[in-house]
Amino acid sequence: MALETDSEGQGEWGSPLFYEAVAQFDRVAGIMNLDDNIHERMRAPQRALVVTFPFRRDEYETVDTVFGYRVQHLHTMGPTKGGIRYAADVNLGEVAALAMLMTWKCAIVGLPFGGAKGGVRVEPTELSRAETQRLTRRYTMEIINFIGPDKDIPAPDMGTDEQVMAWLMDTYSTHVGHTEPAVVTGKPPSIGGSVARREATGRGLMSLLPSVASHLSLPVEGSRVAVQGFGNVGQYAALAAQQMGCKVVAVSDVSGALYNEDGIDVADLMRYVVENKVVTDYRDADKLDPAELLTLDCEFLVPAAVGGVLNAGNAEQVKARAVLEGANGPTTGAADEVFRENGVFLVPDVLANAGGVTVSYFEWVQDLQNYFWSEAEIVARLREIMNRAFSEVLDTAIREKTDMRTAALIKGIRRVTEAKLARGVYP
Ligand code: NAD
Repeated sequence: MALETDSEGQGEWGSPLFYEAVAQFDRVAGIMNLDDNIHERMRAPQRALVVTFPFRRDEYETVDTVFGYRVQHLHTMGPTKGGIRYAADVNLGEVAALAMLMTWKCAIVGLPFGGAKGGVRVEPTELSRAETQRLTRRYTMEIINFIGPDKDIPAPDMGTDEQVMAWLMDTYSTHVGHTEPAVVTGKPPSIGGSVARREATGRGLMSLLPSVASHLSLPVEGSRVAVQGFGNVGQYAALAAQQMGCKVVAVSDVSGALYNEDGIDVADLMRYVVENKVVTDYRDADKLDPAELLTLDCEFLVPAAVGGVLNAGNAEQVKARAVLEGANGPTTGAADEVFRENGVFLVPDVLANAGGVTVSYFEWVQDLQNYFWSEAEIVARLREIMNRAFSEVLDTAIREKTDMRTAALIKGIRRVTEAKLARGVYP
């Protein structure tokens, strides 16, 4: 029996992540003296769809029913955009929180989207490929009137990948009667996906490193980088760091951590992980206590795994000069304060990991025009957008005498507010 009425018996909106997202918005709205009417309007999502639906297990007689969600936080800026997450504990509150964060992220880097997010409460690792396909196609049908290339464009997130996006695109296209690649991003390139999407978040993140280094008067060449998480974001961030001359002295994943003061050969470690799944037991580095990676003596720390890892328990020990947030929400509010006091320069998730949605935006534009760019063009435009957003946020931080997270949110919220005021209230 897969149908559960809520994730932890607290009611659908009772997600700590939603309260945190709203509290963060309230805090910044207070600092910027945001108009009360606009403030209230943006505290809750504009549209939220909750569905339940059945899917057949491989054992034909068994049918499981699960909850699915799609939340669109804000329609002011254009269509909405955001990933779909398959996870055992996803609920409406979590999806709503992530949709709100997507609104700010898109506004910070200047993309013409509002934020959205979707989810299905299911444990993806317990599904066979065929079950995942049936689940995806039925979920797509349940939300089909809610999404579309000019309405709401999903993308992969935790527990979903290129293949899931391909099934979603195929189901949507079959339903509308023609091929519609622009309904989803993060697809395989063979059906209109973008080259360089896989590398986009890590590359985009690291394209900021030279600007951060210059702001802190640090060299790029030879700077020491520690990366927590060696998945999509961590691998390409580490690779880009090494390619620009930094020394990637430590990396970790769920299996453990590695250290090499001369720098780990990232491309070689990536090949090792393809074969061995995890980094542990890689020969050309020493083992390290995973917790120590976060407090290592280095110039740049890149949390690129899970949320809440930099917190009241370890923030005082962080020795990195800068933290570049690859993951969503790796730093708690308490750690933020410690970093502010200790002068640790933090580039927040809503800016630092926006490279993923930026290249997704490129993919959508290319699909709509049926004109595909080269990898070099994509990378150049990604760098330009990321670095422009970084300097605007840095200027705001200096002008408003605040930290980069607050400055980024001020910038995003201000952009949306201007659009809301220009459009007015209907009727
Ligand atoms: P992924 O599943 O590809 O990789 C996650 C990595 O983190 C894996 O190597 C895993 O072993 C490791 N990990 C898990 N728990 C860990 C722990 N406790 N300590 C150390 N390592 C641990 O995921 P991803 O796509 O790389 O996403 C990582 C983070 O970046 C997530 O917070 C995600 O929301 C965020 N993010 C991803 C993208 C994207 O384009 N993939 C975009 C924006 C934000």
